[in-house]
Amino acid sequence: MTTTTPRPALHRPATDRPGPVPGSDPGSDPALTSADAYLRLVQAGPAAAVARRLGLPRPPVLRRHVPGAPLVEGPVLVLGRGAEADALAGLLAAAPAAGGRADGWDLDVHRHPTEGLRYGAVVLALTGLEHPGDLADPVLALAGVLRRLAPAGRVVTVSRPARAGDPPARAAARQAVDGFLRSLAKELRGGATGNGVVVADGVDVLAPAVLGTLRFLLSARSAFVDGQLLPVDSGAGTLPADPERPLEGRVAVVTGAARGIGAAIASVLARDGARVVAVDVPAAGEALAGVANGVRGTALALDVTSRDAGRRILEHALARHGHLDVVVHNAGITRDKLLANTTPDRWASVLAVNVEAPLRITEHLLAAGALTDAPRVVALASTSGIAGNRGQTGYAASKAAVMGMVAATAPLLAAVGGTANAVAPGFVETEMTARIPALTRQVARRLNTLQQGGLPVDVAEAVAFLASPAAGGILGQTLRVCGQSMVGR
Ligand code: NAD
Repeated sequence: MTTTTPRPALHRPATDRPGPVPGSDPGSDPALTSADAYLRLVQAGPAAAVARRLGLPRPPVLRRHVPGAPLVEGPVLVLGRGAEADALAGLLAAAPAAGGRADGWDLDVHRHPTEGLRYGAVVLALTGLEHPGDLADPVLALAGVLRRLAPAGRVVTVSRPARAGDPPARAAARQAVDGFLRSLAKELRGGATGNGVVVADGVDVLAPAVLGTLRFLLSARSAFVDGQLLPVDSGAGTLPADPERPLEGRVAVVTGAARGIGAAIASVLARDGARVVAVDVPAAGEALAGVANGVRGTALALDVTSRDAGRRILEHALARHGHLDVVVHNAGITRDKLLANTTPDRWASVLAVNVEAPLRITEHLLAAGALTDAPRVVALASTSGIAGNRGQTGYAASKAAVMGMVAATAPLLAAVGGTANAVAPGFVETEMTARIPALTRQVARRLNTLQQGGLPVDVAEAVAFLASPAAGGILGQTLRVCGQSMVGR
C-alpha cells in the first residue's frame, strides 16, 4: 500500500476545452493582482523580511486546481483504527478500476507515520469514536507529523455526528472532533487547510457522497475552504466515470453569469463537462455574450426578478440543450445602509434579487416537473447571513433566507435523487467587494485563517462540487468558502 504508480494525466484535444477559468491564479488577472498587491509583495525579497520582522501577516499563495494535476501532492497518511479506517485507506490506495472509473484513487497511502516523510495530506478516520479518550491516539500521531505537512497540504477528518440518543460519552467524543478540527485549521500554515466530513450513522464511509466530499476537501479545488465540517446525510449519489469531468452530459443554468463569481461558476462547470446557460440582465449583454462564448454555452438576457423568469429559463434550456439538471442561483446585489437609513425600495430590491427570484424560479421548475434526473440546486448565500454585518440587515436577511430555502427545498428533490445546497462565500475579490472602502477592504481580507480574500474560482469550485453527481448525499447544507473567516461559525 505504500508506493504506487502515478495516475497518468488526462489529456484532451485543446479544441474541446473551454477557455481558462477567470480568477484561478492571482498572477494571471491584473485586476486581482492589483486587488491584493500586498499578498504578492510579501511573498519574497525585502518586503517579506520586513513583514516577518514586524509580525505582519504573510498570506500564502494557495494551490488551485489544474486539470490533470495530482489530487494530492505527496503521500497520504491515514490515521485511525477499525474496519472503516482500513476501508478508506484501501480505497485511497487502490488503482482505478478498468475504464478509468474513480473507484480507486491510486494515492501513496501510509497507515503509520514514517520518519522524515513529507505528507501531502493526513486523513483522520474517526468514525469509531466511543469516548473522548479515543481521540488521543490519532490526534497525537497527527501532532508528530504536522511540521512535515507539505505547503497547501490537507488534514481531513471523517467522523460521525453527535446525536441526542447517543450514550453521552459517544456524543462527547463525536462533538469533540468539531472543536478540535476548527482549532487545528487555525494552526495550519502555508496554505494548508483542515476540514471534515461528518457521515450520518447508517451511511457507508465508502458511499459516493462521502468519497466525493473527501476528494473535494483533499484536492486543490477546496483551496479557500477551511475549518469546515460538511455533513453527509445519505448514501445517495454516483461517482463520475472521469473525476476531471464530473458534470459530463449535464445542463446547468447560472444566473448573474456576466461577471465575478457567476462568470467563474460558468467556466468551472463547463471545464467539468457541463453545457452552460449563462443568464444576466439585458444591460450586461456584451459581457454575458463573452462569458457564454468562452464556455461554449448559450446566453439568456433576463432579469431574474421578472415574473416569467422560471418559464423563460426552462424554455431556453429545453430548446437549446434538451434538458436542465443544475440550477445555480448566483445573481445577487447589495444595497448597504444602516437599517435606520434603509428605504423601502432598497430593502425590496435586495430581497427580490437575492431570495425571492430564486424561490420563484425553483418553484416554477418544480411545478413544471422539469427537474427529474438527480437535479442539483445550488444557491449563493454569504457569511453575512450567518454572522450578521453592520449595514447589511437586508442583505444578511436575504442570504440567511437562502440557507432556509435550500434546507426546505432539498426534501422536495429527494424523490428524484436531487439536492439543494448553498455556498456561503466570505470575502471574495470581485467588483462587488472592490466597492468597499480601501482600508476596510484591506482589513476584511486578513480576517480569516488564510489571511486573504478568496478568488471567484474558489466559490465556483465549491458550487461545481455541490452540483456534481457525487454530492447526492449532501442535503440542504450551507458550505462556507471563507478561508475560515473569524466571523460566524
Ligand atoms: P457581482 O456584483 O460582481 O456580480 C453579480 C452579477 O449578478 C452581475 O453580473 C449582475 O448583473 C447580476 N445580476 C444582478 N441582478 C440581477 C438580476 N436581477 N437578474 C440577473 N442578473 C442579475 O457579484 P459577485 O461578487 O460576483 O457575487 C455573486 C454572488 O455571490 C452574489 O449572490 C453575492 O451576494 C454572493 N457573495 C459574494 C461575495 C463577495 O465577496 N464577492 C461574498 C458573499 C456572497
